[in-house]
Amino acid sequence: MSRLQSRAQREAAFLKLATDLYTQLEEWYDQHPAASFGELEQEARRLRREFMGQGLAVVINGRDTGFQLEEPVCPQCGQALQFVGYRSWRVSGLEGETELERAYYVCRECEGQTLFPPGSETAVTPGSLE
Ligand SMILES: [Zn+2]
Repeated sequence: MSRLQSRAQREAAFLKLATDLYTQLEEWYDQHPAASFGELEQEARRLRREFMGQGLAVVINGRDTGFQLEEPVCPQCGQALQFVGYRSWRVSGLEGETELERAYYVCRECEGQTLFPPGSETAVTPGSLE
């Protein structure tokens, strides 16, 4: 799973996925030389779903996962929150399966105070892309 990346890094990661898709399609055709157009197209669609799902993860997660260099403060007690890790969830989109993730913080003082800091991708909440 990708973390924060520059635009150039995201582009490289995305193009790598596209190159992998092309390679897999060539290999599949090598192994099925008698395949009909429809069969080749079916394999291409399957690979495209994988590619698009992973490609969207690069674009979204690579921009902003909500991780902050300076710890955000607890809205209840004002103490600095502790970064716990990343929580991920799966979105079944029109083009494929995408694994999204957000940074996750907890308060050491307050029971159950947690935070998923909103970022530029505030609109990307579980279910919003479904
Ligand atoms: Zn607190």
